[in-house]
Amino acid sequence: MLFVRNQTFPYAIKQILYGFKWYTGRTLLPNKRTGLYILSNRRYYNKELEKIRNVGIMAHIDAGKTTTTERMLFYSGVIKHIGDVDDGDTVMDFMDQERERGITINSAAITLPWKGHTINLIDTPGHVDFTMEVERSLRVLDGAVLILDGVAGVQAQTHTVWSQSRKYNIPTIIFINKLDRVGADLGRASRSVAEKLKSIPLQTQFTLQNRTSLEAIVDVVGMNVAKFEGEHGIDVVRAPLPETHPLYQFALKKRAELIEKLAELDDKFMELIFDVYEGDDSVAKVLPDDIRSALRRVTITRAAVPILCGSSLKDIGVQLLLDAIVAYLPSPLAASFPTATLLDQKTSYSTVEVKPNFHEPLCAFAFKVVNDFQKGLLVYLRIYRGVLHAKSTLTNTSRGKKERVQQLMQAFADEYKDAVRLCAGNIAVVTGLRNTRTGDTLVESSSKQALCLSSVNIPEPVFFCSIEADSLKNEKFLTEVLEILQKEDPSLRVEYDEDHQQTILKGMGELHLEVICEKIRRVYGLSVSLGEMQVAYRESVLRPARVLQQFEGSLGQLCSLDISLSPAEENSDQKNCSDPFFDAVNNVKVEFSIPEENEFYKMDKVEVQTAIYEAVKNTLTTGVLLGFPVSHVVVRILNGTTTNETTVASIAFCVGKALRRLLEMAGSYLLEPIMRIEITCDDKYTGLVLNDLSSQRRGQIASVEVTDGIRFINALVPLSTMIGYSTVLRSQTAGSGTFILTFERYEKLSEHVQKAVLLKIRGYC
Ligand code: GDP
Ligand code: MG
Repeated sequence: MLFVRNQTFPYAIKQILYGFKWYTGRTLLPNKRTGLYILSNRRYYNKELEKIRNVGIMAHIDAGKTTTTERMLFYSGVIKHIGDVDDGDTVMDFMDQERERGITINSAAITLPWKGHTINLIDTPGHVDFTMEVERSLRVLDGAVLILDGVAGVQAQTHTVWSQSRKYNIPTIIFINKLDRVGADLGRASRSVAEKLKSIPLQTQFTLQNRTSLEAIVDVVGMNVAKFEGEHGIDVVRAPLPETHPLYQFALKKRAELIEKLAELDDKFMELIFDVYEGDDSVAKVLPDDIRSALRRVTITRAAVPILCGSSLKDIGVQLLLDAIVAYLPSPLAASFPTATLLDQKTSYSTVEVKPNFHEPLCAFAFKVVNDFQKGLLVYLRIYRGVLHAKSTLTNTSRGKKERVQQLMQAFADEYKDAVRLCAGNIAVVTGLRNTRTGDTLVESSSKQALCLSSVNIPEPVFFCSIEADSLKNEKFLTEVLEILQKEDPSLRVEYDEDHQQTILKGMGELHLEVICEKIRRVYGLSVSLGEMQVAYRESVLRPARVLQQFEGSLGQLCSLDISLSPAEENSDQKNCSDPFFDAVNNVKVEFSIPEENEFYKMDKVEVQTAIYEAVKNTLTTGVLLGFPVSHVVVRILNGTTTNETTVASIAFCVGKALRRLLEMAGSYLLEPIMRIEITCDDKYTGLVLNDLSSQRRGQIASVEVTDGIRFINALVPLSTMIGYSTVLRSQTAGSGTFILTFERYEKLSEHVQKAVLLKIRGYC
């Protein structure tokens, strides 16, 4: 072993030692705690990586996410005292507003130690208006815990978070909580996983009840009973389940079911059962570790979901859930690796897999930005490759900017601890990055590779309203506050409407904008008022158009472009996200059909194409009908001529001019956001709700299902008809109804609806 202190270490020698690994297969391992470089081999490093779990907790609101997380922090020693959501003093919901509303709005990343492992826990928000927050945290997770309410089972919002976790291929385990409540039923809740989430539940535990309360958890994998003693059940006391126990046979039956299902799902386990455990009494004999390995494999391939259970509030079962996170969810090594676009010598793009190798150059992804009153802007990074050092210089490849890391930290709820360096697989919090926003990629500044991880898909805002400060003197402060809020929340847009001299807020839903407004009031002490909520429409073009645009700048920068604009073909394969000139959010595509050898490309080809693409995107942000963004179009650059004086900026200017003419020529129509609505309500109100949806709100009912007296209605509705719907639904269903709205697509308005909208917004049609 060779120890080298990093800080005083000359660069050249460091390079030599870095090179050393090529000859010896050994490499320098930075040790986080001691600040020393230890000469070690890759196997040792991988062992360290295997001990990391990046997990998120997902749930329907009120299923017990905050309560469970608090217990996890307490048992792992991160906090010394357990807060109570009902008293509003939990560590996780540290914003005042969340305390009052009882919901978690900003996800906080927390690092906690558990039995020699490091669990990085990302608290995801429960409310659907914040699904963007959920998505950006899911993007960096290797695994997830889904918490269900033991009485309600799978609820409306569970579907949403579940389908999001499927989208990112995240292995999941399920914790069925609140089993202390009257009417809770573990079997029914786990059946709802099979029926509603269409997944295979693998029950690994059940609860033991004494006359009055929950007492213990029986683990059918280890065939033992765990009791939770001491303050908040901190001491787990395990004992084998004796054969004389009244529930021994039941546990054995559950174990047999588990083994049978695992054998069906996992060939390796099936072989093991045949080869090693033949015979009648095999069920009791199969080693717990063999079952755990099989459970881990089927979880990681997402063939099934292990089910755990307990009651967080009554301090039952949470430590076993932590054990399961370590046992069944993947480490960064076993998780699927992200892909990135690699720009080679500024000409060609290729896609590469980013593996968690620490000896390769750094690659990190910014998944969250928050403003801290003391520290300034904090950027949360998932390190995918290499090592991140404090005080290092990085390149933000998404924006082409240099950045300097000041402090490097790890988050422990609302407290941060400094680190000298952090390796691939970890979650870091850094200060000093001025230009980095959610979704950006950061690499080492000396790296020759321009590597860009695919960004979080930020949905376009569907609602907007005006906002104003109560007094003129506060307007400036409001502008500053909105700027910070926008940095924190990429789904929030702030624009200034010159015509009406108003500041406009655009967001994902009514609640989203209201919460922003509350935050301005409480966190920044500014009193503001919001205008009427309005729907964000889109515009598109009716027919193709083509122009030959000339442009001559004042310094003789001549440029001419042959350019066309046409509606995107229905069902055309525009979803190709790796196309660098396709804006998936707005469905705007730019195609270049200028021949390679054209003088047009005398300038740097990538630079010219990127400038044209940016100019198209900028110009299409305001349509000619009502000034809404133009979408569902294809712009083709058919030909172009330039002179020696032509600059990239003049080409971009020419594109803007051409497009404005093209928009006038092509004619426009309005598109409106169509939302998917999932309503859960008491069966007896179904008629009323359905009738209102289809007759009053232009709703198209997709499915109506009933389970245990609860209706699930799934429909598509135009967003414009849904303003204020939560009050309506509550009164229609005597408070039993809940709903979630998610954006589905944009759809052309019928002629008479378009006329009505034009009349309402601009006064004539
Ligand atoms: P979140 O919205 O998912 O973060 O849920 P919370 O943790 O805020 O919990 C919502 C409510 O459920 C609170 O009133 C909790 O006290 C309560 N709760 C959480 N876990 C349990 C449990 O295990 N049993 C019971 N009976 N109530 C619980
Ligand atoms: Mg919560």
